[in-house]
Amino acid sequence: MKGMAHTRRCVPGLSRRDFLLRTSSAAAGLILGSRLGFASPQARFARDPFSLGVASGYPRPDGFVLWTRLAPDPLEGGGMLLKLVRVSWEVASDEKLTRVVQRGTAIASPDYAHAVHVELQGLEPDRPYWYRFRTGDSSSCVGRTRTAPAPGSAVDRIRFAFASCQQYEQGFFTAYRHMVSEELDVVIHLGDYIYESSWGIDHVRKHGAPEPITLEDYRARFALYRSDPDLQAAHAAFPWIVTWDDHEVDNDYANERSQDLDPPEWFLARRAAAYRAYYEHMPLPRSAHPFGPHMRLHTRVAFGSLLDFYVLDDRQYRSHHVCPNPGKGGAAIVEECPQRLDPSRTLLGSVQEEWLFGSLGQARARWNVLAQQTRMAQRPLPRDSRRAFWTDGWDGYPIARRRLLEHIHASRTPNPLVIGGDIHSFWVSDLKPDFDDPGSPTVATEIVGTSITSQPPGRDEEVDAVKSKNPHIRFGNYSRRGYVTIEMTPSRARVRLRAMDNVTDSLAGISTLRSFVVAEGRPGAETD
Ligand code: FE
Ligand code: CA
Repeated sequence: MKGMAHTRRCVPGLSRRDFLLRTSSAAAGLILGSRLGFASPQARFARDPFSLGVASGYPRPDGFVLWTRLAPDPLEGGGMLLKLVRVSWEVASDEKLTRVVQRGTAIASPDYAHAVHVELQGLEPDRPYWYRFRTGDSSSCVGRTRTAPAPGSAVDRIRFAFASCQQYEQGFFTAYRHMVSEELDVVIHLGDYIYESSWGIDHVRKHGAPEPITLEDYRARFALYRSDPDLQAAHAAFPWIVTWDDHEVDNDYANERSQDLDPPEWFLARRAAAYRAYYEHMPLPRSAHPFGPHMRLHTRVAFGSLLDFYVLDDRQYRSHHVCPNPGKGGAAIVEECPQRLDPSRTLLGSVQEEWLFGSLGQARARWNVLAQQTRMAQRPLPRDSRRAFWTDGWDGYPIARRRLLEHIHASRTPNPLVIGGDIHSFWVSDLKPDFDDPGSPTVATEIVGTSITSQPPGRDEEVDAVKSKNPHIRFGNYSRRGYVTIEMTPSRARVRLRAMDNVTDSLAGISTLRSFVVAEGRPGAETD
């Protein structure tokens, strides 16, 4: 084994130059030593096969998922031959990898774009680990991760960040460089990890390709996003938990219906390609392995007795958008649309809803966080004298929302907190079964995080009017990009809205725009 002088860190303190050096050499590809199914174990790579970095995810008390993908030429199909490649991995209890606690070999297959997922067991709870992959004569940099606390154990504090909506062309992912220097146990991504389409103004860089349709297209789009050094560093610094929204596949899709009303069998083939590429590029557990156009993302991730995450998927199983524009699928702004109130409409689908309601009914953790995509709080849009609703978020599924919030109330789910994204703006709201009834109880707190880069749908000048007509909305901000951190203890959750100065300067700074506290036993965020 090579000495520890060869360990390359992926995370803080790492020089930016290290990332640049890793993609600058000329020749590409694996020089093969064998024509059989497996590439030669002595394979030499002319370029770094770990150009997409490393990642970990889904912390459990005794393990986590490790991820990498061999791609010496990531933007040109990966640069690998159609061979199986052995990739060894090691997990150590120290940063220099001198105390290796587990090691093994995984197989990178062209069937999965040479992605590797390793699901570990048998580690100790609630402690950091470091890991690295090797293949041929190449080593990855060293990633850092940690296990979750033991089931039911007392936990003093869990700190997490959540992020969403990172349109590559509209800004640099500098927010992630700042996230890396936060002290966090886990990062949650709430969707729009890639964008399939080019839109917005003032692009700082380009996709350089049209909308993805095929598996190869989606692999290339994920590789482009994941080639960003700040995003790579955030993956290498913390374990992630992920869910998707629409843009991982196609804007405003609902179940098997696309916004352009493509033939469902055609759209499902596209969805299958997108879901597979998503799986290939995320540190997802085996339970999320895609099966054609189906993939189970919804799951619970527990952090001792302090915190349970319920990770939800509000795209795959939802009822079609109600009252769409003529000849279109997808979202619309609707005024008169009685079908909106049809009780059979669902955002989560009956199977996921039953699982969620059953889980929340038995919830024991002090804090129960619903990690989902879109805004849950009602937000009517002023249209002349009437109210109008945007149908893509929970406002398009109000009876399903009411069913969920009534269930949370009736089952006395301890300290429910909803986190969301999608709308490229910060919102802090009280969640009520009936938003139009001032006497309706506040049963949960909602924090919607702004986008990493994606441009907002409104202006800050509108926020006061929104708040005055909607007293359940406590705070809103459109103009800033960033993410949210939450520090949870048994007695309170402290929420910090982390806002970038701008996202068109790759060296821009970050600050806390506002902070809020949610006290144990008292739903609703208070200004800190
Ligand atoms: Fe988005
Ligand atoms: Ca979205």
